[in-house]
Amino acid sequence: MVFKDIINQLYLFLKENKLLSNKKRNKKELKKKLPYIYCRNYSFLISLPLIKIRLMIHITLPDGSVREYNQNSTPMDVAKSISEGFSRNVISANFNGTTVETSTPLTTNGNLILYTFNDAGGKKAFWHSSAHVLAQAILEFHPSAKLTIGPAIDNGFYYDLDLGDAIISEKDFQKIEQKFLELARGKHEFKLRAVSKEDALAYYTNENNEYKVELIENLIDGDITFCDHSNFTDLCRGGHIPNTGIIKAIKIMNTAGAYWRGDEKNNQLTRVYGISFPKQKMLTEYLILLEEAKKRDHRKLGKELELFTFSTKVGAGLPLWLPKGAALRGRLEDFLKAAQKKAGYEMVMTPHIGQKELYVTSGHYAKYGEDSFQPIKTPKMEEEFLLKPMNCPHHCEIYNFKPHSYKDLPKRFAEFGTVYRYEQSGELHGLTRVRGFTQDDAHIFCTPEQLDQEFKNVIDLVLYVFNALGFKDFKTQVSIRDMSNLNKYIGDIETWEIAEKAIISAATDKGLDFVIEEGEAAFYGPKLDFMVKDVLGRSWQLGTIQVDYNLPKRFDLTYKGADNQLHRPVMIHRAPFGSMERFIAVLLEHTGGNFPLWLTPDQVILLPISYKYQKYSEKVLELLENSEIRALVDDRNEKTGRKIRDAEVSKIPFMIIVGEKEEAEGTVSVRKHGEGDLGTFTIEAFVSLIKEEISETLTQF
Ligand SMILES: [Zn+2]
Ligand SMILES: [Zn+2]
Repeated sequence: MVFKDIINQLYLFLKENKLLSNKKRNKKELKKKLPYIYCRNYSFLISLPLIKIRLMIHITLPDGSVREYNQNSTPMDVAKSISEGFSRNVISANFNGTTVETSTPLTTNGNLILYTFNDAGGKKAFWHSSAHVLAQAILEFHPSAKLTIGPAIDNGFYYDLDLGDAIISEKDFQKIEQKFLELARGKHEFKLRAVSKEDALAYYTNENNEYKVELIENLIDGDITFCDHSNFTDLCRGGHIPNTGIIKAIKIMNTAGAYWRGDEKNNQLTRVYGISFPKQKMLTEYLILLEEAKKRDHRKLGKELELFTFSTKVGAGLPLWLPKGAALRGRLEDFLKAAQKKAGYEMVMTPHIGQKELYVTSGHYAKYGEDSFQPIKTPKMEEEFLLKPMNCPHHCEIYNFKPHSYKDLPKRFAEFGTVYRYEQSGELHGLTRVRGFTQDDAHIFCTPEQLDQEFKNVIDLVLYVFNALGFKDFKTQVSIRDMSNLNKYIGDIETWEIAEKAIISAATDKGLDFVIEEGEAAFYGPKLDFMVKDVLGRSWQLGTIQVDYNLPKRFDLTYKGADNQLHRPVMIHRAPFGSMERFIAVLLEHTGGNFPLWLTPDQVILLPISYKYQKYSEKVLELLENSEIRALVDDRNEKTGRKIRDAEVSKIPFMIIVGEKEEAEGTVSVRKHGEGDLGTFTIEAFVSLIKEEISETLTQF
């Protein structure tokens, strides 16, 4: 190959990589790019492959595959290279941990995740982009409204606007939605544009928008972007879908007052909440789901079924368990206690407070001390106590009660331990976010060699709990170290490797559907989490198994090994329910209050058709109670039809109707909740019907 040919090839290569303009071959430009080409020696031949490396980029996809692209290819180019069909669904992307537009040129090697609407990242871009269009639609009706911020939230998005004296009420929703769709149909592209701080300030000063001016003042020059679509411009750092046409359905949910920057000293703005979808059908389904979720809201059901309540006098976020709720919770505890006993756990009990020093030792003071309930001081002012934020330090001290030999291990200490953590009042939510809650806690202290078996045992216990309570659909996640940043983890590499291997092999052995998340482990140990899907398809995190190398060290826990030397035990924290409060909330919403028969507050209600059969009802009641069936009599002077309807509402699984015929024959007529008439049974046959149904869900551990 002669020198001229090589130059020609190089030229074509540069052009292909968009590093040269498309103009006719421009010697000057080529000269500028590669001055040494004109050195009449052969060194450039050596540099040729190096140039190629610089001009191509390597993109690593989530499945670990690495593909080569021209520099400045966009996420959409990558999507198209995977498949045309797939690229049509790609709406957003993440490059090296940062959200980017699908049109952002990629200039370096890196990890790329392509999002569709099914991914959380895709929904976020979709809903945030919808917020821009919502603001645009509102401006059509309120041209002088001042825009502030419009983020995506868990379900949809909102936009905060200063409407001046104007208001947006429910009757305006439809016309705004129609305008929104009309604008969206224009398929306007979202385009990010860098602006100088000076220009950005000038733009919003001209718009008379003091909110945006305030936001821009806090931004760094050179780091400011505007997003344009159609005739609409907004200050925005990015994270949009390609164009408005992808948004096919919108629903404005409600409006609320919101202070600028959440500070009540500031102006009150109007917050407009909305949700949007790429298909009309998805919106319809979402609205049906929302209705169903409202019916199943645990706060509503908890009140109707008289399970728990809150009192402003007692304090926000501190649940009060009513008799039926306390009994139900007791049954859940007994159920777990029985299984734990078989699994070799020992119950312990510890106080609700502990010396501040205890939590300083454990490290919990550093985590909860400042931002949670403040220490309790004794009158002498010399002692400081903390409301217990975690049970673990107490259990470490129980372990330290006496010296241990490897022959005693594992030790498994369990406690339904109530802990207290301060949550802001705005964060509180029924039983799912509270300030005092009871963990079904246990700590296992074992040798590193026992980890594998202990993990398997805990998985068995968690699966047993889920099965007995009707959670069939769940996923698990194994959280391991970030292999590129091993310094941030305590404990030696060998023990970490043992633990990670033990978790993965236990999860595989037990047939769990799991994903491994690198970098998600706590600094003190890897863990396994269970994510349960309820009947409405919502995911809840229940059940955690966490390995800990930190507390055994902080509390100087030891055991004497077979070598007669002292060793550090490994600690496992585990809670199949998570907390009693949260678990019961999830169970209420999952079952809609129709608990499994073994757990439900009242299993049977007797409905005598008149007061004449009161005596016989009481006799049946006694027989049922003797068989440990929870039953009650509805002796109100009401028609049988009314009594049946009320029993259905209170979700009692079995109704027994007794009248003349039943009394004469010594039988009962049985109706089942939600199913209807089951026919006539002798009392013994009815008792076995109930026992059978219970034994189907409540198997022995
Ligand atoms: Zn934006
Ligand atoms: Zn713990």
